[in-house]
Amino acid sequence: MYNYFMDKILFAGLKKIYGNDILYKKEDLYPYAYDTSPNPDDIMLPEFVVYPLNSKQVSQTILLCAKHKVSVIARGAGTCHCGGCRVKNRAVVLHFSKMDKILEINKEDLTARVQPNAVIKKINEEAEKLNLFFPPDPSNLAVSTIGGAAALSSGGPRTFKYGSAKDYIINLEVVLSDGRIIKTGSNVAKNVTGYNLTSLFIGSEGTLGIITELTLRLIPKPEARMVTMAYFDSLIEAAGAVNNIINSGFTPATLDLLDKNTLNTIEKFNPCGLLCDKEAALLIELDGFRESLQIEKKKIFEILKSSNAAQITQAQNEEENEKIWRTRRSAFAAVTKLRPNVITEDVVVPRSKIVALVRGIEDMCKKHNIVVCIMGHAGDGNIHPNFALDLNNKEERESFNTVKDKLFSLAISLGGCLSGEHGIGSEKKKYLKDALDNGAIEYMEKIKKLFDPQNIINPYKMF
Ligand SMILES: Cc1cc2nc3c(=O)[nH]c(=O)nc-3n(C[C@H](O)[C@H](O)[C@H](O)COP(=O)(O)OP(=O)(O)OC[C@H]3O[C@@H](n4cnc5c(N)ncnc54)[C@H](O)[C@@H]3O)c2cc1C
Repeated sequence: MYNYFMDKILFAGLKKIYGNDILYKKEDLYPYAYDTSPNPDDIMLPEFVVYPLNSKQVSQTILLCAKHKVSVIARGAGTCHCGGCRVKNRAVVLHFSKMDKILEINKEDLTARVQPNAVIKKINEEAEKLNLFFPPDPSNLAVSTIGGAAALSSGGPRTFKYGSAKDYIINLEVVLSDGRIIKTGSNVAKNVTGYNLTSLFIGSEGTLGIITELTLRLIPKPEARMVTMAYFDSLIEAAGAVNNIINSGFTPATLDLLDKNTLNTIEKFNPCGLLCDKEAALLIELDGFRESLQIEKKKIFEILKSSNAAQITQAQNEEENEKIWRTRRSAFAAVTKLRPNVITEDVVVPRSKIVALVRGIEDMCKKHNIVVCIMGHAGDGNIHPNFALDLNNKEERESFNTVKDKLFSLAISLGGCLSGEHGIGSEKKKYLKDALDNGAIEYMEKIKKLFDPQNIINPYKMF
């Protein structure tokens, strides 16, 4: 445990910015030491937590922290799986819960201007009132903030058709390590005016600057959606069906894969009629105009049957669509009931290598006696093994560490990468050199130094 003490001069400086709205008692700081990555032995508390109301306060905080050589960590909902919110040295956490507004939705320009803690589900609810749509959909979109989603370039089941956060953020207001507040782009749909600074910040895991406002690109909301579950007696047949659907010219919004363990675990804790004797299931969502969906559905059913689907179930209305989605989104919560800890990884491979990856994960878990439920976005090769563990059990922990090493080296050997959507943070940084060209890493480190020469913005993450 970090030997915490309060820096009185820093506290006095923060009081000038925030008045009494500062957390500093040990018991209040604990929740801000964690995100959803595994609990480390060397947990550190931040020194203070503050709640900015505007970018000026963020700028003043950064300048104050720079003077005291204290780090600054931005935090949204804290659901990061890779340790991005964790504290690695003396730090002040900026919790954005008071900057959660949807400032403007412009129907004509198809844009939304939002503060960093605007929750993705709420952005979509407001956009839908104007028949608009913000596609990025992390499964925890009911809590996930747009600032966190931008910092991680979050995706989700709809990424196959629509892309991830990086494809829908066109301009950012960012506070830099020298306190300067900049706009990275313009509020226009297309823009090649200078370097694409907006893209540089998206996915940078809060290590280059602090995002205080975002302009999002919206698209017209599809008129209807149709959700189908197709069950298979083998993983190979399920993967074959994914290829057959895509090769026949269809782009479903979602092509999600659930393995037998995932089906059984969800059904055990949240009974909803999943077919647990099947080896794999595909959750397929089609969206578009109501009439064309009927034609697409007929053809997709034909493809599923010719791909040996053992059973196909079809939601009959929007309520049933939502029921299937609630089921799918409950997967992580269900796995948490198997063992005291769950660790979710999100390796990504070329789609042609999904079967080899899933088989490899099953084999390594069997060999090392680790419980795993595998699901993922089969359309884009992004597979989530959810490992259910007891991290207090030393032997199990060591076995898991071996499995983790093997998982990343398997993904890389199959032409894949460490993360499709969760990021690197503190959890995966030791594997970065295996996954990326060393020259690329060198330039990434130079970019970090350029933006943050004192290494105070979310330091010791990624590299
Ligand atoms: C049950 C569950 C399901 C999930 N499903 C998905 C999924 O389907 N797809 C997916 O991509 N991810 C998923 N995630 C991972 C994660 O929750 C998402 O990436 C989410 O978008 C992160 O948002 P957050 O508000 O929790 O960010 P946080 O965890 O608070 O922050 C994440 C990172 O962003 C940085 N950050 C936060 N705010 C700012 C800011 N204003 N400026 C600069 N940096 C900032 C933080 O420092 C941290 O490094 C899931 C997580 C859980 C627990």
